[in-house]
Amino acid sequence: MTRPGGVWQNWSRTERVRPQRVEYPPTVAAVRRSVAAAAARGLGVKAVGAGHSFTGIAVAPGVLLELSDLRGLVSVDRERARVRLLAGTRLHQIPALLAPYGLAMENLGDIDRQSIAGAISTGTHGTGARFGGIATQVVAATLVTADGDLLTVDEDENADLLPAVALGLGALGILVDVTLQCVPAFVLQAVERPEPLEEVLAGLDARTAEADHFEFYWFPHTDVALTKTNTRLPVDVPTAPLRPLTRWVDDLLVGNALHQAVCSVGRGVPASIPSINRLSARVWGDRSFSDASHRVFATARGVRFREMEYAVPVERLADAFRDLQRVIDENDWRIEFPVEVRVAAADDLWLSTAHGRASGYLAVHRYWRADPTAYFAAVEGVMRTHGGRPHWGKMHTQDAQSLRASYPRFDDFVALRDRLDPQRRFANAYLDRVLGG
Ligand SMILES: Cc1cc2nc3c(=O)[nH]c(=O)nc-3n(C[C@H](O)[C@H](O)[C@H](O)COP(=O)(O)OP(=O)(O)OC[C@H]3O[C@@H](n4cnc5c(N)ncnc54)[C@H](O)[C@@H]3O)c2cc1C
Repeated sequence: MTRPGGVWQNWSRTERVRPQRVEYPPTVAAVRRSVAAAAARGLGVKAVGAGHSFTGIAVAPGVLLELSDLRGLVSVDRERARVRLLAGTRLHQIPALLAPYGLAMENLGDIDRQSIAGAISTGTHGTGARFGGIATQVVAATLVTADGDLLTVDEDENADLLPAVALGLGALGILVDVTLQCVPAFVLQAVERPEPLEEVLAGLDARTAEADHFEFYWFPHTDVALTKTNTRLPVDVPTAPLRPLTRWVDDLLVGNALHQAVCSVGRGVPASIPSINRLSARVWGDRSFSDASHRVFATARGVRFREMEYAVPVERLADAFRDLQRVIDENDWRIEFPVEVRVAAADDLWLSTAHGRASGYLAVHRYWRADPTAYFAAVEGVMRTHGGRPHWGKMHTQDAQSLRASYPRFDDFVALRDRLDPQRRFANAYLDRVLGG
């Protein structure tokens, strides 16, 4: 978000920069002019989405392109259920664009504030053993490359580049449009409830295999898992949505405002956190409802936090979780935010955290005013012993040397970057760290 005075900062307040220029290109031609002008001035140039990455991946010290005017639907292929969207379109705008065609996005993450280009560029994902992250829905894209040219990547042109461009970390060019493979609109039946943590861990493989979308949250210092099981149903089944007041009370009042108060108290009196977490686990999540898919997938996140998330091979998920629990116990930390556990199918995108392996995801959070350093460092250590790959948009300390060993196509991606952006027009400090300079 660029604020008056020209300072950009991300949602979690972990990154800020005063770019040399901020531009709002309203058309593809204007994006090309911006990139060409930046090149002529010898400046770097980067597009930002909604600034919801916790890492410095979107930091643009040179020319920052806000694509807030580059939104909406370009075209629809009804026969193949594909839609071409301008890159700055926010996820929460997409359902209304798809509704007239009876289509929906196949899967989503926890929130819908991100831009489509930003979401795919960092590998944003939801949960579901049979479903990949959002970038796996990408069947074509158009980029403005470093020299200001347009590069089309689809099944007819440059098809071999799609697995790189669909999840490109913002390193290959400026995405101006993205084509998604959609599915017929569907309803989700949601069941959210507290369950004994040990039972959930013991049945984790079966739960994740049986459910369309299974995940759980665990509040440290409790023995309760808050499970969420979503089942896909045809669009024409009668639904039982949350009443607006119930949603407001559950999501905003209990989920956000109460949690905000809890985090503030916990910060002043860390010893109170275990009892507060036990209380939170009791008042959070015991409900069942059904609604249009996007209204069930996405929730509101009103309490600001910082996050690290690692993907491990799914068969190591329960062990990695237990090691994470042990680290919290051994260090006697008081952690006020839940751990989130999800799964995703294997895919073939070169830099996807689920590349070549079905994956389990473990995400740890801390209130934004609490120092996450020691906790995140210890969790990162655990995840690395389980072959973990860090989410590109969430906090981690890995660099190109360590990441290369985790991704079989890492060098192919770097070679493509060398070809498309030899002058490193789209680079920043984060990309230099994780991809090499
Ligand atoms: C509250 C919250 C909840 C979240 N929930 C989830 C979740 O459930 N699952 C999950 O996986 N992640 C989640 N995230 C992380 C988030 O989805 C990613 O960090 C995502 O990249 C943010 O999208 P954005 O539009 O804000 O992109 P930004 O953070 O603004 O940018 C991300 C990257 O995309 C690049 N980019 C943006 N636009 C373009 C473009 N047009 N062309 C080329 N590159 C571009 C940027 O340069 C940067 O490299 C969450 C984050 C927050 C703050």
